[in-house]
Amino acid sequence: MQPRDLSAHTVYRAGRGVDEVARELGMDPDDLVKLASNENMYGPSPAAVEAIREGADRMHSYPKASHADLVEAIAEQWSVEGEQVWLGNGGDGVLDYLARAMLEPGDAVLAPEPGFAYYPMSARFHHGTVGTYKLSKADDFAQTPDVVLDSYDGERIVYVTSPHNPTGSEMTNEDVVELAERTDEETLILVDEAYGEFTENPSAADLLDERDDVAVLRTFSKVYGLAGVRLGYGLVPEAWADAYARINTPFAASELACRAGLAALDDDEHVERTVETARWAREYYHEHLDAPTWDSGGNFVLCEVGDATAVADAAEREGVIVRDCTSFGLPECVRVTCGTREDAETAVETINEVLAE
Ligand code: PMP
Repeated sequence: MQPRDLSAHTVYRAGRGVDEVARELGMDPDDLVKLASNENMYGPSPAAVEAIREGADRMHSYPKASHADLVEAIAEQWSVEGEQVWLGNGGDGVLDYLARAMLEPGDAVLAPEPGFAYYPMSARFHHGTVGTYKLSKADDFAQTPDVVLDSYDGERIVYVTSPHNPTGSEMTNEDVVELAERTDEETLILVDEAYGEFTENPSAADLLDERDDVAVLRTFSKVYGLAGVRLGYGLVPEAWADAYARINTPFAASELACRAGLAALDDDEHVERTVETARWAREYYHEHLDAPTWDSGGNFVLCEVGDATAVADAAEREGVIVRDCTSFGLPECVRVTCGTREDAETAVETINEVLAE
């Protein structure tokens, strides 16, 4: 007995955790500077930690009906209806729900290359086929309607990542609208704003009251510092009112995740400090890294270092973990998360030393 033919499916390779790297290097995990996964280096929102503590003695109960409190708070934040908010087990879980809602077997999706690895995986899990559009390094990975439309062939979902992982480039709302207008009526433009809080550009959520072919993805993993609790949400067109109830997993998000998310949404101080430091660190990397970098709207910067694997390995031996972008098809680049000021300074010093060797 075997499962169905899974040969077309790839394995998601999550980065190693701090503890694992520390063990290998014989170092104290607290002495490592982990800038490989675009996490929040200030840690979780303290309000979220407190909310989880308070909720711990309720763990025997199922989550509140439809996670009503959190859904309401998110709907209010974006001026949408509660039915337009799709909670999931991280942004990844929301990508699955959107693929489940959109794809019939054999339907195609179009994803950016380089791009986030889970788009094609999620589409394939839902019996979809995958095409890609190329973001060109020569054009600074610019995201324009033409770049996407050059490869577009009536796909059911077009994934747009803005700010884009791993390059940091963005697509403006004007361009999202143009793209939506120049694609078929039955094509959804899914704007992934996992890093949306770090850009100055407005969210594509602003388009939801005028368009029924745009959806937005957001996560609590980055600015709110809750990657470990797994909580994300989609904002979908108003016309999809009852779709979520038909496709979601019972209790799409855990009670503790919802409590943490609700508290984190209100923790303006944590969000502001995180965003401010990330914007500072982006500039610091641009100015001080002795290698070319690209403008970024996210909490990370892509940097061209030559042999990315060699540089990432050498930096890691010095206790600084950055993302080798070889698996993104950019073997000459590393992606460096914006940590705290101290983290960013250590990263620059270490990477520059490695580059000088
Ligand atoms: N989209 C992008 C572009 C990402 O980089 C990530 C996480 N690395 C996600 C979505 C999903 O994040 P999560 O599942 O932690 O919400």
